[in-house]
Amino acid sequence: MDYQKLAERLLPGEYPSPEFYEEKYPPRNLPEKAEVTRLAPSPTGFIHLGNLFAAIANERVAHRNGGVLYLRIEDTDLKRKVDGAVEAVIRALKYFDITFDEGAEIGGNDAYAPWYQRQRAEIYRTFVKKLIAEGRAYPCFCTEEELSALREEQTAKKEITGYYGKYAKCRNLSEEEIYKNLDEGKPFVIRLKSLGDPKNKITFRDAIKGEITVTENDQDVVILKSDGIPTYHFAHAIDDHFMRTTLVIRGEEWLASLPIHLELFDALGFRRPRYGHNCSLMKQDGETRRKLSKRKDPELSLEFYRKEGYYPRAVKVYMLTLLNSNFEEWYQKNPDADLAEFPFKVEKMGKSGTLFDLDKLNDISKNELSKLTERQMADFLRGWAEEFGTEAQRAYFKEEEKLLAALTLCMGIGGKKRRKDFKTASQAMEFLSYFFAAPESYDESGLDLKTRKTIAEEFLAVYSYEDDAAAWFSKVRSIAEKYGFATDMKEYKLSPESYKGSVADVAEVLRIATTGKANTPDLWTIQHILGEKETRSRLKNAVSAWEKA
Ligand code: GLU
Repeated sequence: MDYQKLAERLLPGEYPSPEFYEEKYPPRNLPEKAEVTRLAPSPTGFIHLGNLFAAIANERVAHRNGGVLYLRIEDTDLKRKVDGAVEAVIRALKYFDITFDEGAEIGGNDAYAPWYQRQRAEIYRTFVKKLIAEGRAYPCFCTEEELSALREEQTAKKEITGYYGKYAKCRNLSEEEIYKNLDEGKPFVIRLKSLGDPKNKITFRDAIKGEITVTENDQDVVILKSDGIPTYHFAHAIDDHFMRTTLVIRGEEWLASLPIHLELFDALGFRRPRYGHNCSLMKQDGETRRKLSKRKDPELSLEFYRKEGYYPRAVKVYMLTLLNSNFEEWYQKNPDADLAEFPFKVEKMGKSGTLFDLDKLNDISKNELSKLTERQMADFLRGWAEEFGTEAQRAYFKEEEKLLAALTLCMGIGGKKRRKDFKTASQAMEFLSYFFAAPESYDESGLDLKTRKTIAEEFLAVYSYEDDAAAWFSKVRSIAEKYGFATDMKEYKLSPESYKGSVADVAEVLRIATTGKANTPDLWTIQHILGEKETRSRLKNAVSAWEKA
C-alpha cells in the first residue's frame, strides 16, 4: 500500500514538518536538576482534591530546583467544556498558593504556547500524517452502531472490549476499499496501528510507585476524531514532548492508559517523559475505605475549602503530610518555616491509597489558626467575608478595634495558652457573632427560668462597667451565696446536694444572658469589649425573655 499517497489523501495539503516543530519548541535551557512539570486539566468546571494533591506535588518538584510548572488545558472533548473553567482552576489553586510559571491565561513565557489543545490542531495533524505515511496509522470507517455492536459481542463473550487484533476490522482494508469509502464520502477517524501484544509485559519504572509491570497495549486507539481534533491520548503525547515536560505526576487512575501512552511515544519516536502515578485519596466509610466521591463527599471539591474558609496553609500542610512520609517530622521541627523549604521528594510519595480524614485537617486547621496574630486573623477573615460573608458579617470589619479585641480574647493571645477554637473562617465568623449582635436565642442551662431571670436581674442591679475582674467576680459570688449556690468548689464537690449548684452555674447564666452561649472565653472581658450600654441592654433582654417564658 502506498501510505504516502494515503496520508496525502486523508490530510491533504502542506503541513509543517516534524523538524519544524522540533526547532520551534526546542529543549528547554534549564539547570541540571530542574524538572518541567504540568497540570493538564480538562475544563469541566470541577476541580477537586486529587487535582490539588497532584498540583502540590508538581509544583514542589518544579520549584524545588528551578524548574517550570505550566498549565495546559485539555479541551479536546467539547461536550465537557464549561465556561469560566480555566479561571476557576487558576483561582482554586492560587488560594493554595500554587502559581504557574507558564500556561493558559498565565502570561509569562509563551515560547511553548498555545496552551489549549484545540489551538494546537495543526501540530497534531503533522504527526498524524506522519504516522499514516509510515503505515502506523489508518483510517477507520466503522460507525457508532458497528462499534457498539462490537462492544456487545465482546461483552457477551467476556472478552476485552475495544478495537484490537481480529476485531480491528478497518486495519485490514485493502487500498481499493479505503479509496472507495473515501470516494463515497464516508466519515472516518484515524487509529493507531498498534504493534503491541497483550502476551507481553512491560516493566516500567514509575517515579512514585517504583518498578511496575503493565501489559503491552494492543488497542488501535483513535488518535484523530472525525472532526479533525485528536483524542486526549494522542494530544498529550505531542504536548508533553513539545512543551518539554520531564516529569508527569498525575492520578493513578491514568495508570490504565499508560501502555497506550508508552506506545504512542515510541511510535512518534519521542523520548518519553518520566511518569509518577499518585495514589488516590480514600475515605474511611464505616468499615471500608473507598475513593472520595463527587456525589457523597462535598470535601472532594476544592470550592468547598474556599467557601468554608479553610486556611490555605492548613490544607497545604495536611496535603504535604499525606504526600511525603517525612513531612510531619520535618514540620514538627520547623512549625513556622516557609513550606517551600521542605525538601520535597518524589521518592517519598505514597505508593498506595492514602486516607483523607477531614477531622485530621480540622485539627491542623485549628493549630495553624492559633499561630496567627489577631491582625493576621482579621485579614484572613476579611478576605473570606468579602467573598462569602453576609452583609452583617462584613460590617464587623467597620468596628475594627472591637474585632481585634474579640480576636485577642478568643484566640487566647497574651494568655497562658493559645485557644484553638477557630477552625475555618466561616466557623470563626459565626463564633464571633455575639460580639456584634445581641443573642436571638439562648443556650440551655441547668437552672429553671425563674432562677435564671433572678440571677440576671440581681446582676444588672449591681453591675458596674468600672469593676475590674476581681470586683466583678465578687459580685457574682455574692449573688451565688444569696441564692444558695456554693462558692467554694471543693466544698461543693464534697456535698453537691447541699447546694442549688455552684458559682459556675451562676456565671453560666450571665454568660448565656450576655452572649446566648453557654461556652465562651472570659465573660468579664466580653462585657468589657461590648461596653456598658450594650451589656446592660443584653441583660435586660434576657430578664424579659426569661420572665415571659
Ligand atoms: N486531562 C487529564 C485530566 O483531566 C490529564 C491527564 C494527564 O495528566 O495526563 O485529568
